[in-house]
Amino acid sequence: MKKTITKEIEACDFCSGDKEAYHTCMKCGKKACYNCNEHKFKKLKHAVNFQGSMDGTYCHNCFSELLESKDNELFNAYLKLQSLIEEYNTFYSPWKTRSRRAERDIEFIWNNRKNSTN
Ligand SMILES: [Zn+2]
Ligand SMILES: [Zn+2]
Repeated sequence: MKKTITKEIEACDFCSGDKEAYHTCMKCGKKACYNCNEHKFKKLKHAVNFQGSMDGTYCHNCFSELLESKDNELFNAYLKLQSLIEEYNTFYSPWKTRSRRAERDIEFIWNNRKNSTN
């Protein structure tokens, strides 16, 4: 049976699509669909290694405003964590490169030894 139904949805504030918008700016309340969320919103993680419902979601306008005013306690807390995550990546990434190289050296020497005993 075919049936036409009218469905009320939260529509995206950024495009004219009729996709349901699941992402909301935590400051102005604008909604974004899945696609627009990628380009129009900024995500701020609530934990170094996890993402989840406590993550921050802000549209670019609000993000810049809050960045300038610095008067939003939660936003500032997100920024603090973000800078710690960046700091972690800055020192972890060279370490990762060096340890990969060391691992490859062992593999290389190991394989050479194996070949020479044959
Ligand atoms: Zn959209
Ligand atoms: Zn906003």
